[in-house]
Amino acid sequence: MYTVDNIKDMKLETQIDEAPEIVEQMSMFDEAPDFRLHSKYRKGVFRTRKELVDSLKEEGRDKIYHVLSFGGGTQSAHLMEQHLRGEIHYDYIVFSDTGAEPQFIHEQVAWWQRRQQQVGNKTPFIITHHNKITGGLEEMLMLWIHTDYQRFQMPVYCATLNRTTGAIKPAGMLPRQCTVDFKINPVKRAVRHAVLERHGLKSNQKMPENIGFVIDIGFSYDEIRRINTDQSPQYQYIRLAYPLVEENLTTADSIRFLEENHFPTRRSRCYLCPFNCDGDRDIGMDWDEIIEIEPLSFLKACWFDNEIRRVQLTGTKVMNSVPYLHYSRRPLQEVYAIQYGHLADRYASSLNDWIKRWRTQIEWKWKKEIVA
Ligand code: SF4
Repeated sequence: MYTVDNIKDMKLETQIDEAPEIVEQMSMFDEAPDFRLHSKYRKGVFRTRKELVDSLKEEGRDKIYHVLSFGGGTQSAHLMEQHLRGEIHYDYIVFSDTGAEPQFIHEQVAWWQRRQQQVGNKTPFIITHHNKITGGLEEMLMLWIHTDYQRFQMPVYCATLNRTTGAIKPAGMLPRQCTVDFKINPVKRAVRHAVLERHGLKSNQKMPENIGFVIDIGFSYDEIRRINTDQSPQYQYIRLAYPLVEENLTTADSIRFLEENHFPTRRSRCYLCPFNCDGDRDIGMDWDEIIEIEPLSFLKACWFDNEIRRVQLTGTKVMNSVPYLHYSRRPLQEVYAIQYGHLADRYASSLNDWIKRWRTQIEWKWKKEIVA
């Protein structure tokens, strides 16, 4: 799945702000992985699970809850299986629904829930979502498109437009804020509520001083660049751990493990995720899979892709660059023109119903004037 070359390509195009780290990332593929040698660990950007537990205990937190942030894809499934085999302890497993995962990821989540039951594991499995934008990324985008809402929380590819010639020039990417807002933060809130309830407290009460949390995130060693901290900015008593990184395991290692055990291996992501690739940029998440398995979702992604550019060009948004969902910075429906041509008419009615439903819902829920 991952190869050194396609990871290099992806980084050079999409992570242009991280050039010094890219060099380090690239060189780490030349030798056996060892997270302890990586600058992120050496500089204290993250610590091991044991070091986090020790730090919580030093603060007088002797009751520590271990949580798996479960994404339904390959890496957190690897951790899930380690848990089911008794190799890693969790008090809670939490899946946060971004509101834009393909149905096949929901099916994979359900598969793991069934496996948990079959092996007799009783760890509470919580499904949650963003506390206000309960419809997830679809709702966030519809809000942004149809109202004066300004917070754009997705890592789109940006370009500057020469209005005279119509030429565009690549201009980096927006941050991957959706992972924090729609995945990690809802997990923190959900376990916080669950533990308060377990201790007979209400969700607005203070966490007892002797309680701490370690939430495991399924980043792999090859994704070490994504680690920015091991400390929750909102809650002093919540720490974030990266056990696959500590095991020096790559994404490919987790996929191999799942394949060897005949477990599902689809990569988790949203159907409209700009990190979907194609052609020789194969990272196991691609537009072809969405087109083939969920054609209507592909058409929704094309619709969003066109709409975010249309709205950005009106000048009403705090977004200076022209956004694209596809890394080529071309309209998605143009990149996949043949497939789009085959599908557009067939699903036109379903797509229009979906657009109308969202407009009605945005108007009703947010009591905002629909401006587009
Ligand atoms: S899969 Fe992509 S779009 Fe979905 S939350 Fe993650 S980065 Fe954002």
